[in-house]
Amino acid sequence: MFWIDSPTSYLIQTCYSVVVTLTMLLLWRSNRGEKELLTWTLGGLANTLFSLLVTYRDHLPLLFSVPVLNSLSFGFVAALWFGLRQSHGKTLPWRGSAAGLAVALAALLAATLDDLLRVRLLVATMTMLLLCAAMAWEVRSTRRLLKSPGHTLSALVLGLLMAVFIVRFAMIVAAPADFDLRANASQHALQFAANLLFFALVLGGLLISNEKLLSRIASLAERDALTGLYNRRALLGLAERQVGQQALLAVLMIDLDHFKTINDRYGHAGGDAALRQFAERLSQCCRRGDLIGRYGGEEFCVVLPGTSVSEAQRVAERLRTAMAAEPVAFGEHRIALTVSIGLACLRPDLDRLEPLLAAADAALYQAKRGGRNRVELAGQRVGVAPREMASV
Ligand code: GH3
Ligand code: MG
Ligand code: MG
Repeated sequence: MFWIDSPTSYLIQTCYSVVVTLTMLLLWRSNRGEKELLTWTLGGLANTLFSLLVTYRDHLPLLFSVPVLNSLSFGFVAALWFGLRQSHGKTLPWRGSAAGLAVALAALLAATLDDLLRVRLLVATMTMLLLCAAMAWEVRSTRRLLKSPGHTLSALVLGLLMAVFIVRFAMIVAAPADFDLRANASQHALQFAANLLFFALVLGGLLISNEKLLSRIASLAERDALTGLYNRRALLGLAERQVGQQALLAVLMIDLDHFKTINDRYGHAGGDAALRQFAERLSQCCRRGDLIGRYGGEEFCVVLPGTSVSEAQRVAERLRTAMAAEPVAFGEHRIALTVSIGLACLRPDLDRLEPLLAAADAALYQAKRGGRNRVELAGQRVGVAPREMASV
């Protein structure tokens, strides 16, 4: 069996810990919004100090080395856990963790005073096992296990880490009374395996942080900042794909009526509030899978995949009446807001996105010409306002 002596293994650990800590620090410096990177940098610092000190463990008094070394290694693993929670936007369980750490350190000190090496090793191993279990629970609770490579890697590594600590715990319990637990090859091999696995766990964390950043960038690139809906480019890209796949599909082109008057009367902030609330109502009127986008200033476009003409008419009418029935709120003001909608559906002469959009646009202008607050189907009127457009 291969053998790596303790000082060599700790020297290797110190070197990669320094590299990882510096990498985390540099990443955090360029992405200060990602708080988990700072937490992992601090964790890396604790791990580096641990690996440096542990090399000289035999020259340090036990009552110093036991609490300090264990605090550093628990701190390192707790930082990995805390960073993971931060990357999921969760709060940090400071109180519970500090209480747990205090109990573990008290038990370790008591075992040191009584010279109970076995108890000490059991307490340390159990604490690491519990921290890994907390982290595994955190990874599992995100429901992103198979969708995100970072979470998949972390889950696998945590499974292995827990197995290592369970085996270690069992070996310590089963060892004969006169067995030297510290100078034991299997214990060394397990410790070395755990160190490598923690290194892989840090890489899993980096992947998670990177995935989060990429998804934020993707969201910035494809979402409209004011309403959170798809922007025009993203909507057209997604719609193009749906047009190629669906047998039934409808497009709604929606324009807010006399919107300039709202801006003139309530200012730009009032107009923005109206746009946001319209976007919310629009989302409520649609199903999952419908593509909703802000097409331009106060123009919106909805693509309804798998939707027949009559179903699309119902959706459009629902939206029109929902807007006409209930004014939007802006401070103490109630702003009456109506919409005109042009509707076009896939059919033999409208079998690509471009002519579909053009047909829906033409229907929209017909709705405007017809007096606003109404729905027009490309070529034919399907909804008439029950009353004249509400004045703003
Ligand atoms: P119509 O019924 O014919 O559509 O009249 P309208 O006033 O809605 O149309 P028009 O195109 O004349 O005016 C649209 C207005 O929408 C003008 C523009 O200032 C405003 N607008 C566009 N984008 C925004 C925005 O992001 N916020 C606000 N507050 N207003 C916007
Ligand atoms: Mg308008
Ligand atoms: Mg317009």
